[in-house]
Amino acid sequence: MGNQVEENLKTVRQQMELACQASGRNMEDVQLLLATKTVPLEKLQMAMQAGATLFGENKAQELRGKFPLMQQYNQVEWHFIGHLQTNKVKDVVKYVTLIHSVDRLKLGQVLHNQLVKENKTMDILMQINTSYEESKFGAPPESALELVEQLSQFETLNVKGLMTIGKLNATNDETRHCFRLLKQIQTEIREKKLPRVEMDILSMGMSGDFKVAIEEGATIIRVGTSVFGQRYLPDSYYWNENASRDD
Ligand SMILES: *Cc1c(COP(=O)(O)O)cnc(C)c1O
Repeated sequence: MGNQVEENLKTVRQQMELACQASGRNMEDVQLLLATKTVPLEKLQMAMQAGATLFGENKAQELRGKFPLMQQYNQVEWHFIGHLQTNKVKDVVKYVTLIHSVDRLKLGQVLHNQLVKENKTMDILMQINTSYEESKFGAPPESALELVEQLSQFETLNVKGLMTIGKLNATNDETRHCFRLLKQIQTEIREKKLPRVEMDILSMGMSGDFKVAIEEGATIIRVGTSVFGQRYLPDSYYWNENASRDD
């Protein structure tokens, strides 16, 4: 008998498989990232034991707390998926291999300065606010080209693609529209052929909309609730105007 996390993981993977089949895609081309905000260590461990290898955290502090456990497992990788305050950059670059949420020049600049000090490079995604919801972080779609041109000046940053949060509590058509917009921005940026800008990753789709995201070309889906169950903190704690904006 498996535990609940293991069972849920199995179900999500089956749903991914179906979405891939329905859209003629290969399962190997879509990575499952588990969003771990507020998830206790025991559940995290269950996921790792069930073979999950990719995790995403929203806050530097939680990342730090979970890191020792993660180090006990081989091949486990962490990404940063939350709003990144510039004063947390130093912490975050220690732990993660990809930052999904670069959405402004100032953050790029602070990341670059830190990486130069450490003589390192970092893979990043640009977060785009495709739903135009006030409550969400992310660069406005209209400024994506300008931002990627600016970020490509920093030789420590490799822009690997784009991330978005689809419109919440929306119809499939509305979310699909968000994901298509992200794909369209990806195509426009590719045509620019900027240095250190590859655009192969599309990080989109969560528990409520990952099937649509896979149909629209997601290469990473970020799933929390469907695997770990409901969170005790509302997402507004992580996403909306109550979350601190430092610039
Ligand atoms: C919490 C979170 C997710 C996962 O959301 P679920 O609806 O629980 O699957 C995905 N992406 C980001 C940026 C998140 O903060």
